[in-house]
Amino acid sequence: MSASSEPSCAPSPFDHARADVILRSSDDVDFHVFKLFLSLASPFFETLFDLPQSSEEMSTDVEMKDGLPVIPVSEDSKTLDPLLRFCYPCTLAEDPALEDFRDVVNVLEAAKKYSLDTVEKTVCKSLFNPKILEANSLRCFAIACRTRMQEECALAARYTLWEPLVPTWFEEIELITSTELLTLLVYHRKCATAIQALKTDLSWITTEYTQSAAVPWMVGKTSSGSYCHCTRSSSGKYPLYYGNTVAQWWEAFMDSTFLDLQEKPCAETIRQDVEKAIQSVRQRNCGHCSAVVPGGMRDFGTLFINKVEELISKVTLSLRHITWRP
Ligand SMILES: [Zn+2]
Repeated sequence: MSASSEPSCAPSPFDHARADVILRSSDDVDFHVFKLFLSLASPFFETLFDLPQSSEEMSTDVEMKDGLPVIPVSEDSKTLDPLLRFCYPCTLAEDPALEDFRDVVNVLEAAKKYSLDTVEKTVCKSLFNPKILEANSLRCFAIACRTRMQEECALAARYTLWEPLVPTWFEEIELITSTELLTLLVYHRKCATAIQALKTDLSWITTEYTQSAAVPWMVGKTSSGSYCHCTRSSSGKYPLYYGNTVAQWWEAFMDSTFLDLQEKPCAETIRQDVEKAIQSVRQRNCGHCSAVVPGGMRDFGTLFINKVEELISKVTLSLRHITWRP
């Protein structure tokens, strides 16, 4: 009895009865495919299939199964399946949805290896969906630079704002030039600087909340007009409402958020700092603040995020030193 098990058969449409060749993945899954579709997609396959494969023509080396030549490939079935689906016409297979960074990169590498140029472009685009970008912005940026996709490059750069200015090492950093990395660093800093304008000009707050009565949670004033026992700021750093100083915890929130935004100039920074501020207020057990701060702060956080995103959208990634493919 043989120790290795029989190769399994790939699912539809790679089990087609009229297929004319079998590609065997590295993990022993047999894909019954049509030479024509693959030959049309890539000159590599065209050449490969032109080589004599049937046992009548020659070679006893070529394994035959169900009367079809078996060609072993180095990709595993998880990579081969989406790659082949991309090569097939939409009547037989829909383009697969790739939602994991590693999967996309594996398929991308295989597409390159087999000179599947159109597939390479299509697969590359699937990297730039929010789910993948959120967790892999720097890697996506590097790949977009390398594959010369300008729009995707700018999109990925926007997501890199979730990372600190000096990121930890990532494998794909080797793909980009120092000019491209510098471009990204300058963009990051420009975004961080642009946001600081919100600290000096507070009109974005008073335009939204015209009177202190609109922000009882910020000034610690109860509905009866008296103040709660929470400490109020004495620094005058955020002079929003005449005669009403803001609560000290809110001033601390603003200070630390603007500091954090220098490192990560993005909405997520604000979201996290808002929740932290709410937590700290709750811990103080002030009856007034515990009731009004969570709602008030979350609304304020939304306003803050909108303003930040508005400013960041005006900052452009300066790509003029990068040579793009025509
Ligand atoms: Zn209070």
